[in-house]
Amino acid sequence: MVVDSAGPRTDATGWRDRWELLLSLCPDPYVEVDSAGVALEWNPGAERAFGWERGEVVGRSVADTFLPGGVADTPFVPPRRGTVVEPGAAPGRDSGAHRRSFELVHRAGRTISVEGLLYTTGSSSGGSVAGFVHPSERHESGAGGDPTVPSWDRLTGLPDRAQFVERLGDAVDRHDLVSGSVAVVLLDLDRFKGVNNSMGHDVGDQLLVAVAGRLEAAAGDAELVARFGGDEFLALFEHATGDAHSLATAFVERVRVALAEPVLVGGTEVFVDASVGVALNTFGVDDTAELLSNAEAAMYQAKGRGGSSVETFGESMRIEVLDRMTTEHSLHRALERSELTLHYQPVVEIEGVTTVGVEALVRWQHPDQGLVSPYRFIPVAEESGLIIPIGAWVLEQACNQLNDWHHRERSDPHGSIEVNLSARQIDDPRIVRTVEEILDRTGLPPEHLTLEITESALMRDAASALGVLRALKEVGVLLAIDDFGTGYSSLSYLQHFPLDILKVDRSFVEGLGVSPEGEAIVSAVINLAHALGLRVVAEGVETTRQLEVLRSFGCDLAQGYLFSRPLPASEIAASFGLAVGA
Ligand code: C2E
Ligand code: CA
Ligand code: CA
Repeated sequence: MVVDSAGPRTDATGWRDRWELLLSLCPDPYVEVDSAGVALEWNPGAERAFGWERGEVVGRSVADTFLPGGVADTPFVPPRRGTVVEPGAAPGRDSGAHRRSFELVHRAGRTISVEGLLYTTGSSSGGSVAGFVHPSERHESGAGGDPTVPSWDRLTGLPDRAQFVERLGDAVDRHDLVSGSVAVVLLDLDRFKGVNNSMGHDVGDQLLVAVAGRLEAAAGDAELVARFGGDEFLALFEHATGDAHSLATAFVERVRVALAEPVLVGGTEVFVDASVGVALNTFGVDDTAELLSNAEAAMYQAKGRGGSSVETFGESMRIEVLDRMTTEHSLHRALERSELTLHYQPVVEIEGVTTVGVEALVRWQHPDQGLVSPYRFIPVAEESGLIIPIGAWVLEQACNQLNDWHHRERSDPHGSIEVNLSARQIDDPRIVRTVEEILDRTGLPPEHLTLEITESALMRDAASALGVLRALKEVGVLLAIDDFGTGYSSLSYLQHFPLDILKVDRSFVEGLGVSPEGEAIVSAVINLAHALGLRVVAEGVETTRQLEVLRSFGCDLAQGYLFSRPLPASEIAASFGLAVGA
């Protein structure tokens, strides 16, 4: 090993210890290979840069790891005995250093170009080649050498977040007077969490590696393509005269094409797509943190549109971000100030037209803005986590309300109360406990509570949602899949969920009596649901024509303005009591 053949030997053990300590602390990748092509040294820097762990490399032939072609065409060609040691050089001392470039293979399977200063060391028993190497940058940064050591993502071999931030900082400094000369592109894979949880983390990792490879292949004139962390990737574009946006747009187009082909992982073809946010430097926006957070805001906007789309951060989005911030701020106090109330909308049995339940829909009476739509504040509550206390409040309030109606009618519990659960609530590890506690406190028998979960919330992470649903089912509540038809349900998946009710989204009901294709879909969904033993609710029924068509399809239940708009408890009580009591 190099420690035996190099350096002063006055205190062999001490020297070796110090050398090994030095190698372990050094952030640069250090590699040493002997004349037989066996790796002798591989430090943590090399682990970080190339993915292979020391134990996988040292003592094994490099052909099995980072040099699959063996040492033949690399600077690690074993020095021939007798010729290594140059005249005048003492045996055992370095014969000289050479700056060399070559390629090695990252553990993730990607080829990385590296360069470094390699030393040939010789001894009577053979020789070895050793030195510090570092991945060559695809683009020279032009601004001279970077004093900090670039860092690399271990899984994908791409530059990591720290390196990206560093380079972005350089870029905005360089172009600080030209608006639009720097573009940050943030890509977030759609539904990655689902793949990870349903197919396993190994498959998830393979998918990330494959995507990283495709992004790099699509990089074109990107200054840098990096992994931001998780399933998020970044690209940086610079354009001296201010048109970085078109470079970014062209890149996003190439990425779309590159991701259109399914990725083969774990023996299955997986389709991936990404939500993309783009942010540009402008006169007011030139610090890295702000550019990144703008790209993030744009990406969330793209996500919000159902994924696989691109958004560029602009003035309107800045206003929207501010608006969300103020909404979030006042939402914090909405609960304690009792600004939230529930409205109730009847759910009607189509055969016989009787009210069999009510859906609780939250309303926010904002002190300045008046009635705020849940479409506006529920997403903010979800993002900020406020949906957890708000959701618990809705649940308790709704259960109490149904009890209250039963009381007034002096009747046994009947009918059901339907409460919406958001994705964030499903992710909350305490959700099952919360539901149990509320049922205990209110005394409502669980079979009178239906929890509605949207199809997209279920499909986002089907595997873990399944666990939560099963646990809720054990509690005894009924479960409904909400907004059906708007998510990406795989129908085969549906049968695994312990569901009782399927709610056909309003957008499908709208088409009834209008388009035969739309009708065919609704009829097929109703049949499918019945085959799976589910009752079907049609949402948003506004006309008698729609109701007739639904009845002819055998749909069980309906909800919509035709029967009633959502109303305050005081206004709904009468109709609910009458219909059910009849
Ligand atoms: P959703 O669960 O799909 O609720 C049905 C929405 O459709 C309600 O809107 C309701 O007022 C509306 N609607 C009902 N019938 C008709 C109709 O005939 N025509 C039309 N055009 N619309 C109809 P709303 O109350 O604005 O609620 C919007 C969404 O906000 C709900 O959609 C639900 O996803 C969410 N939401 C409401 N309350 C809560 C809550 O307490 N928790 C959670 N997590 N989400 C809630
Ligand atoms: Ca609902
Ligand atoms: Ca719905």
